Amino acid sequence: MTFAFDPLGLTLPPGHHIGGQYVSAAEDIAVSAPSNGASLGSIPRADAAMVDRAVEAARTALRTSGWGIVAPRDRLRALHRWADLIEQEAETLARLEAVCSSRPVAEVIAGDIPVTAEQIRFFAEFADKECDTLAPTAEGHLGMITSEPYGVVGAITPWNFPISMAGWKLGPALAAGNAVVLKPSEMTPWSALFMAELSVRAGLPAGLINVVLGDGPGTGAAITGHPGIDKVSFTGSTRAGAAIMENVARCGIKPMTLELGGKSPMVVFADADLDLVADCLERGILPNAGQFCVAGSRMIVAREIAGDLAERLTERFNRHVPAPTWAEHPGFCPIISETQLTRIDGIVHAARDHGADILCGGTRFDTEGSYYRPTLLGGAAMDNPAVTDEIFGPVATLQTFDSEDEAIAMAAHPTYGLCAGLFTRDLARALRLSRRIEAGTVWINRYGRSRDHILPTGGWKASGLGKDLGREAYTANRRTKSVLATL
Ligand code: NAD
Repeated sequence: MTFAFDPLGLTLPPGHHIGGQYVSAAEDIAVSAPSNGASLGSIPRADAAMVDRAVEAARTALRTSGWGIVAPRDRLRALHRWADLIEQEAETLARLEAVCSSRPVAEVIAGDIPVTAEQIRFFAEFADKECDTLAPTAEGHLGMITSEPYGVVGAITPWNFPISMAGWKLGPALAAGNAVVLKPSEMTPWSALFMAELSVRAGLPAGLINVVLGDGPGTGAAITGHPGIDKVSFTGSTRAGAAIMENVARCGIKPMTLELGGKSPMVVFADADLDLVADCLERGILPNAGQFCVAGSRMIVAREIAGDLAERLTERFNRHVPAPTWAEHPGFCPIISETQLTRIDGIVHAARDHGADILCGGTRFDTEGSYYRPTLLGGAAMDNPAVTDEIFGPVATLQTFDSEDEAIAMAAHPTYGLCAGLFTRDLARALRLSRRIEAGTVWINRYGRSRDHILPTGGWKASGLGKDLGREAYTANRRTKSVLATL
C-alpha cells in the first residue's frame, strides 16, 4: 500500500486482513488527510470474491478453534490479552487513526483507546457469566432454554470514531462466541486493520476478526447480502441503514443491529445552572467538530435565559482554533472531507435563507485543511433545514420555548430519536419529562456518555434498531434455543 504523505512516521497495514494475515490487492480508493488535504495513497476495494474469502476464513476459524464453544473463561482471557495489547500499542494505533480522520492523536491515546480496551474487557466478562436455564414443564419432560452464538457477524462502521466503533462491534460479538467480518469506512481504513493484527498477536484464533476494505454499495452490500453472514451489525447514516435493510430483505432474512443518525435536542429550563449548561452545550456539539451521532445540535432554551446563554455560547464558540490531528496539543477538529464541508456550509446558508440568524461562525476557517467554524444559529423555525436535517458538523440551532409542553413538543423530531439532554434544578420535573422524551437515551444535567458501558446505547425511530453497549449488546450477539425432552 502506498503512503504519499506521512506526518507521523507510519508504516501502513498492507491490504485487507483475512485469516490472520494481510492480503494485498489492487488499490483504487483514494484516502486523504482532512487536516491538510494531502493525499495519503489508496486502498483496495474488496469485491464479492474477497468477501467470500473473508467469510470462509471466519467460518474456518470458528470450526478449527471452537471459539463459540470453547470454555468461556478461555474466551474471556484471550479478549483481555487483546485489550491489553491495544493499550500497549496505543501510540501506533492512534497514529493510524488520526492521519486520515478527524480524531486528534492525543485525544485518541487519552480517550478512545483506553475506553475501547475497557469496553472489550467489559464484554469479555459476560462470556463466563451466562447459564442455561431449566424451564418448568410437565412431569416426565425436561425443558431447557439455552443460547448460542450466531456464527459470523458482518460489521460495518463509520468514519467518525473508527476505533471506538470497531470496538463496539467486535467486543460483544467476539465475547458472545462469534467471528466477525468487519468493513471500516473507506475514509478511515487503517486502525481497524491494526486491531485485527493485534488480535492475532494476542492469541485470538487467526480469522476470528477479518477486516475487508472497500466502499458501501460494493463491499458493504457484498457483506450484508452474503449467505454466510449470520447477523449484520451496522453503524452509520439512516440512509445507508435503510439500504442495508432492503439488501438483507432481498438476499435472505437475518437479524440486524442498526445504530443510525440523530438530531438530538438539549432542553434547558430557566432554573438550570447556566455555567453547567454552557459547558454541557458546548461539549454537546463541538467535540470532533460536531461529527458524532449523539451531537446535541438542537438547543431548546427557555425564553427568559436564551439571550444570556446565546452570549455565553458565542463567546465560547469563537475561542476554538483548528489544529492538525497530529498536533501535540489537540485543537478544533477537521471536517472529514471537502464534500462534507461543502454540505455543512450549504445547510447553514439554506438555514439563513429560511430566516435563521447566524449568531457566530457560518464560514470555513481561513486555513489549510477542511475546518468549519463553530456555528450557532438563532431564530430558526421548526421546518428550517438546520433544525430538521442531521448536519454532522459544528452547527447548532438555538430555539426558545415558553412552556414545558411546548419544549417537549419541540424536542420530538419527526424522524430521529437518538438522545436528548434535559437541564433543570428540579429533578422531579427532569425525571417526569425524561419519560415523555422520544429518545433511546436521556441525559439529565449532563450531556454525553462517560465510562458507563452498562447503559445500552441505541436510537428510537429512524435512529436505530437494537443496542450497542450494555448487556443488551452481548445478548444481541447470541440466539436463544429451547430444548424439550421427554424423559
Ligand atoms: P455512512 O452511512 O455513509 O457510512 C457508514 C458505513 O457504511 C461506511 O463503512 C460505508 O462504507 C458503509 N455503507 C454505506 N452505504 C452502504 C450500503 N448501502 N451497504 C453497506 N454498507 C454501506 O455514514 P458515515 O458518513 O460514515 O457516518 C456518519 C453517520 O453515522 C451519521 O449519520 C451518524 O449519525 C452515524 N453514526 C451513528 C452512530 C450511532 O451510534 N447511532 C454512531 C456513529 C455514527
